[in-house]
Amino acid sequence: MIFHVLTLFPDMIREGCNNSILKRAMEKNLIEIHAVDIRDYTQEKHGKVDDYTYGGGAGMLMQAQPVFDAWEDVVKSTGLTSGKEGAQEGRRVRTVYVTPQGTPFSQKLAKDFAKEEQLIFLCGHYEGIDERVLEEIVTDQVSIGDYVLTGGELPAMVMIDAVSRLIPGVLGSEESAQTESFENDLLEYPQYSRPEVWHGKAVPEVLLSGDHKKIKAWRLEQSKERTKRWRPDLYEKYAAREQLAARLMKHKKENAYMIDSLLKGKVKILHVEGDAAVCQSLDGHLIMLCCETLEQGEKLLQYVPKDTGLLLHNCAAINGILESEWGLQVGDECYQSVYTQHTALPIAHKDIRPYPIEALEYASANYGDGKAREYLRDRILSGEFFAAWQDGEIAGFCGVHDGGSLGLLYVEPKYRRTSIGSSLASYLVNWSLEHGGIPYAHIRVHNVASLKMQEKMGLYVGSRTVFWTYRRRGEK
Ligand code: SAM
Repeated sequence: MIFHVLTLFPDMIREGCNNSILKRAMEKNLIEIHAVDIRDYTQEKHGKVDDYTYGGGAGMLMQAQPVFDAWEDVVKSTGLTSGKEGAQEGRRVRTVYVTPQGTPFSQKLAKDFAKEEQLIFLCGHYEGIDERVLEEIVTDQVSIGDYVLTGGELPAMVMIDAVSRLIPGVLGSEESAQTESFENDLLEYPQYSRPEVWHGKAVPEVLLSGDHKKIKAWRLEQSKERTKRWRPDLYEKYAAREQLAARLMKHKKENAYMIDSLLKGKVKILHVEGDAAVCQSLDGHLIMLCCETLEQGEKLLQYVPKDTGLLLHNCAAINGILESEWGLQVGDECYQSVYTQHTALPIAHKDIRPYPIEALEYASANYGDGKAREYLRDRILSGEFFAAWQDGEIAGFCGVHDGGSLGLLYVEPKYRRTSIGSSLASYLVNWSLEHGGIPYAHIRVHNVASLKMQEKMGLYVGSRTVFWTYRRRGEK
């Protein structure tokens, strides 16, 4: 990951980032941080970069010209298109203006940024920056809180720090970034280190028990308690999802996709209607709907954004209105296979690990006819994509789709008919269980071989299908 920081105080960035974990990450070439001095680009002969604001008022404003020229130079150096030009296209670089007026920075946004190849941060100073250049170059405006600082260098460093620690390899263990505060809208549980007793206070006994199941349950309880006490706003969201998941459990096999997303905190609830509900993925791109009747479906659809491009549901009765009134057509009709047990599956092939980003091209060449590169990159960086290794090479891979279903399975021809394929599939089931979800996969209705394999593995294939509906390309 490469960070470019446009600033009037490059030393602040260089010195601030050259410590501890960020320093190590730079030494390991996992991240690069380039501080670019905006002053180097001014055309003013005395090196001035600011001037008075039109209309009066206290303070100076950074001028458009040096900011624009510095930015243009950096964009060229990235070899990518600017986010403004290539808006939705794959290889574009985002320009983040750090400003108290922006969207509040969050763990979710940090995760979103961590998927980029490069990022440009623009730091203001004095009264800020001429609006006209912001209009031309900025793709994201982000704040680190409701207070005003003297400059954007500290906010840029805050964001670089939060993003860097999500990049695979920057932290010692992948897990440490996965079980922290804000995952699933919960704060982290209390933690203790040696000695066992300090100032007369003993470490909670359960943590010394060696019983991992009990420890996990205790930690979850503690997380819930402190979130309820310290961040009731977060707890409310968590509790609402848990309640809805519990309600949908009555039809666990039919509603698995929605329950799984609710339990993993991957969706927000748009509306609940008895035992029917509609949710939206946190990045907004996917709508999930569960209902039994056309009447329920019609009520729920009132809460769905009109420009929805992808909607997953389990009620054949609503396909007609989705097509005629929403412009959504049924792309795939799938059976849903669900693992309904709570015990982990046995895995014959032991060497399965998170997929290395350096091997992206291999995955891209072997899945989706080379057209899924960006999607696979996203999946690898999400930490939900895995490789099986044999004799020092990748023998196959599998992963969790961004909607939550298990799949993305590929096995090298020479390793087919070995235990690698089923081990990868079982690994995914166990991974999903460990992460508090309901393992499930969506299999196209005609894919008989895959359905048989699911049943053989011990997954239950329901009789009711789900429908992936989407907007045809180019239609609004
Ligand atoms: N006049 C501006 C306003 O009222 O919105 C504030 C300018 S501030 C003194 C100077 C620069 O510091 C801003 O341009 C921005 O880059 C940075 N900055 C200050 N507070 C910030 C915050 N809470 N989050 C992100 N950036 C901030």
